[in-house]
Amino acid sequence: MAKKPEVRELSQQILLAKHLYYKGSPEITDAAYDALEAKLKKLDPDHPVLSMVGFDADAAGGEEGSSKIEHVKPMLSLRKTYKLAELLSWVDGKDILATPKLDGNSLSLVYEQGQLVQAKTRGDGTRGEDVLAKVVFVPNIPKTLPAKLDLEVRGELICSISQFSKLQTHMQNLGFEVPANPRNTVAGILGRKSHGDLAVYFDFFAFDCLGSSVEENALFSTETQKMDWLAKYFLAPSFEKLSSPEKIETYLTKTQEILATSEWSMDGAVFSYDDLSVHGELGETSHHPRYKMVFKWQGESADTVIKSIDWRTSRAGILTPVAIVEPVDLSGAKISNVTLHNFAFAKNVNAAAGDTIKIVRSGEVIPKYLETVTKGESVFVSPSVCSTCGSGLELRDEVRIYCGNATSCPAQIIGGILHWIVQVGIDDLSEKRLEQLLEAKLVKNPADLYRLKVEDLLQLPQTKEKLATKLVENIEQSKKSITLVSFLSGLGIAGGGKTSWKKITQDYCSLNSVRSISADQLAGLDGFAEKSAETLLDGLSAKKQWIDDLLSAGVVPPDAASSAGAGAGSLSGKSLVITGTLSAPRKQIEQAIEAAGGKASKAVSKNTFALVCNDPESSSSKAKKARSLNIPIWSESDLEQKLTEDIIK
Ligand SMILES: [Zn+2]
Repeated sequence: MAKKPEVRELSQQILLAKHLYYKGSPEITDAAYDALEAKLKKLDPDHPVLSMVGFDADAAGGEEGSSKIEHVKPMLSLRKTYKLAELLSWVDGKDILATPKLDGNSLSLVYEQGQLVQAKTRGDGTRGEDVLAKVVFVPNIPKTLPAKLDLEVRGELICSISQFSKLQTHMQNLGFEVPANPRNTVAGILGRKSHGDLAVYFDFFAFDCLGSSVEENALFSTETQKMDWLAKYFLAPSFEKLSSPEKIETYLTKTQEILATSEWSMDGAVFSYDDLSVHGELGETSHHPRYKMVFKWQGESADTVIKSIDWRTSRAGILTPVAIVEPVDLSGAKISNVTLHNFAFAKNVNAAAGDTIKIVRSGEVIPKYLETVTKGESVFVSPSVCSTCGSGLELRDEVRIYCGNATSCPAQIIGGILHWIVQVGIDDLSEKRLEQLLEAKLVKNPADLYRLKVEDLLQLPQTKEKLATKLVENIEQSKKSITLVSFLSGLGIAGGGKTSWKKITQDYCSLNSVRSISADQLAGLDGFAEKSAETLLDGLSAKKQWIDDLLSAGVVPPDAASSAGAGAGSLSGKSLVITGTLSAPRKQIEQAIEAAGGKASKAVSKNTFALVCNDPESSSSKAKKARSLNIPIWSESDLEQKLTEDIIK
């Protein structure tokens, strides 16, 4: 249950304002401050930032080393390997659950009767540090679980690259020593005597769940079920069930890409036997469980000197700083480029030509900046114009800097069309040829591709009739094989990847219905918070011209097949939300709803048809919201009655 991003942003703003006020250098007026608090109170009345009295930084600290708590079950290390053969022989034909390995700080959260009562670090594996006072500030750690369960959730506390940049700025403002990299910052904040409230910049990813409620109710029999359950209430790493050596190899290749591009530091992949009864049989050594294995890529680091910093404009118009370094050998590759992630990151590490930096490459295709070893004489310089089109720049969200020329910046246009080409699968049309088409003013948006004739292409350098004909055929072919999902993801809208569109088109099966979705309707679907729904719809309306042009060029996606079961059944097309404890496992009830043509959603919205809840007086946030929106609350027997209507008919 990740909290809405605006809750996180608001609490960070309030915290910074509070800190600066008590430091004697307020930056906003009292009225502006009160408005922030009022807004947060509305969204999350119990937010710990609201109950901080005065500066009260110590309350969020705790004395260092004073309170250690024993782990009920030791928090062990994981066995690791660098060799595929060793991994596969350990797998030994069993079903495996795989996740990327997050490189943060392990944390144990204890819930009693569904209430968060304890949080501790891994420590030495037997005893960890009490960090509850800090952990309550982590936005995606639920303080209450929907059911009265006794359990322990384990996971990784980690700081993403963009949150890290914000945290650096915050700490700079307070006059604190600014942490150098996201890897060390989590341990640093957890170990502080004061200002543990800065944990508001961290994320918690859950990967394990144990405790009496799990054992007594035999809550899960496989690792997959456990992750499915965790993903409902916590942020969880992506997970995949793998059943053959080929799939494991493909997974590793895919994970290397994820490692290189993720917002969160990851340093390998974790594999677990899926069948939990096997875990029980194999048990643990004093060092590691026998049923888990980490795969890591041999990592290597090296020092090199920055020659210059390039600002590269992406398809989305974001300028990414890339350090051009003295070439150096790293894990078998000659490295001359190192990404500095984003504007705020480069600024905060004060990156400039002449700096000696340490870089690392472990699994990632792209090497990463680790730290500055020796600072050179120059200081960081903000770019003043887009390196591709020379237009002015805009700093948004304090982290990223954008080229303001969305309509005619060549980097953005080429990037956008290339993305379309990949998504809809046009073969043999390279980036270089696309640049030539742009220069010859033959193409300025994806629709123009479909108007190209053989004689147009013959104007391009080194293009003979045979190739030109083939290209026109390939483009034509993509028109026939296009699907609604590839059409929409081809538009390259932020937050609109294939997975999102697949989800949306299950309920909204035609291009027209997708184009007329409202933000509320979208926010009613699983996995779409209000803010991400708005971003997606803004992106969609910004592409109006592209879509209209594509349609008039004859690129018309067929309607998506409607989801199974929809259109029939007593709950056809209706969205239901479940809360509280029910007599059967939630999954089973969700399946019954789906079998009746309905849809089980996680959040209550205007589009919710009914909330299923056995306690009519329930004061859960879902029940409150349902009442405020006049959405009927059904007991389990109300639901059963509805479901039997199908059978009677
Ligand atoms: Zn530009």
